[in-house]
Amino acid sequence: MSNASPFGTRADATADARPLLGHWIGGRFDASGTRRDSVFDPATGAVVAETVFADRDCVGRAVAAANAAFPAWSETSPLKRSRVLFELKALLERDRDDLAATVTREHGKVFSDAQGEIQRGIEVVEFACGIPQLLKGQFSDNIGGGIDNWSIRQPLGVCAGITPFNFPAMVPLWMFPVAIACGNTFVLKPSERVPGASLKLAALLEEAGLPAGVVNIVQGDREAVDALLGHPDVEAISFVGSTPVAEHIYSRGSAAGKRVQALAGAKNHLVVMPDADLDQAADALIGAGYGSAGERCMAISVAVAVGATGDALVDRVRERIGRLKIGDGMSGDADMGPLVTAAHRQRVAGYIEDGVREGAELVVDGRGLEIEGREEGFFLGPTLFDRVTPSMRIYREEIFGPVLSVVRVPDLAAAVELINAHELGNGVACYTGDGRTARNFARRIRAGMVGINVPIPVPMAFHSFGGWKRSLFGDHHIYGEEGVRFYTRYKSVMQRWPDASSKGPEFTMPTHK
Ligand code: NAD
Repeated sequence: MSNASPFGTRADATADARPLLGHWIGGRFDASGTRRDSVFDPATGAVVAETVFADRDCVGRAVAAANAAFPAWSETSPLKRSRVLFELKALLERDRDDLAATVTREHGKVFSDAQGEIQRGIEVVEFACGIPQLLKGQFSDNIGGGIDNWSIRQPLGVCAGITPFNFPAMVPLWMFPVAIACGNTFVLKPSERVPGASLKLAALLEEAGLPAGVVNIVQGDREAVDALLGHPDVEAISFVGSTPVAEHIYSRGSAAGKRVQALAGAKNHLVVMPDADLDQAADALIGAGYGSAGERCMAISVAVAVGATGDALVDRVRERIGRLKIGDGMSGDADMGPLVTAAHRQRVAGYIEDGVREGAELVVDGRGLEIEGREEGFFLGPTLFDRVTPSMRIYREEIFGPVLSVVRVPDLAAAVELINAHELGNGVACYTGDGRTARNFARRIRAGMVGINVPIPVPMAFHSFGGWKRSLFGDHHIYGEEGVRFYTRYKSVMQRWPDASSKGPEFTMPTHK
């Protein structure tokens, strides 16, 4: 298969015009593997491509390519590594809209949102361009007896990344730019539902001058993931996805002696205090609850109405839902697109049925929505439940769709208690007009990312992203300085150049008496 065309052509000689999306190993496209699956355009329901799934052998070849590239890449100076990333940043900016269109076509989110996803990914590349500064160690001159002591951070080796469907470009960009800037090599296993963006990134890495084998991509599912988890040459795994899979990756990976960071599912709450501006809070709930059809790990899925705010808040959200434009993400005026697959839409609709069965008040029902000209698309309208209680399944579990639940509580203490008792703790927000409430909330809440009058507090690339509780398995948040720590090992060096007079063994612990 041609090295120059990683997508857009088929390996087999069928009349099928749909592209066959395969792997990128050692700088070459590779379509090996017997299992295949369809990639859909969620807005039309049409099959737009086919992906080929990596088996154990294919994963083995990708890890071998990464392993072979490691000695030279880790010896390349941080400055030269950062120059490749500067090139990549420029190319990502050049192709931002092309990448965003690929994301919209395979995921369904609206084009402007996909552009935002690419921009957030570019910002991690920008951060990684500063790697010479970030890898500067610490030095203590003359700690005693003619000895100097310094510390450095060194790369791990081959790192792997396993990514979810909802950010086909941004989540891979959370991982490999920082990993390779630190001197590691990388194998990425993107979500099988959205393989296109990763291959476009591969083409840009090649154009940026990245040596072959430093980043490799294998398409696939559990078989490829298990091959990475079991491979002795994989030193570290970064995972982003659902909680059950994150737990599986963390336990298997760490049992095999690998370093693992596994970012997991979410159930993000937005607290509305009686002193909040209710129109601003309702706008925030609409954007954060229904943007990207609720398929964001930072989506707000629970509004916590404090005191007497419930009725006025529900009225405002209902009225705004009526004004939302739902349609094909490429149409230009849609606020919200379809869900990623028909199966996922079915799953989300199942939660709505559960909510009704368990006694929640269905204020707006998104089932049955049809978009003219897009009748085969995987659309489900914005749905609003009121008077949801903590024992209901729609409260306890992550739905990952356009379903917002309102829970009513008497005061701030009850809101904090409710949120802290949930098993997930990714993002959280509080809308208030009072500084002391805001400060107490931010300090007492058990979640990794907190927004005060900010509904989706995704940290910038020079901070780090991650949750608490069962939203993150492992010690490190992702990207930023936490990312540099995750992708490097700490080493402390002591050095002395003794003169001829210092001889004889020392038997006591050296001290500074
Ligand atoms: P998922 O867990 O189904 O899949 C994630 C990745 O794991 C994919 O690459 C998939 O191929 C692989 N995978 C799936 N099942 C597996 C198995 N049994 N064994 C091994 N590998 C397996 O997640 P998804 O549906 O693609 O994405 C949505 C989920 O990701 C949501 O739960 C969302 O909250 C979460 N997410 C979390 C964050 C975060 O930062 N915490 C960010 C984005 C998405």
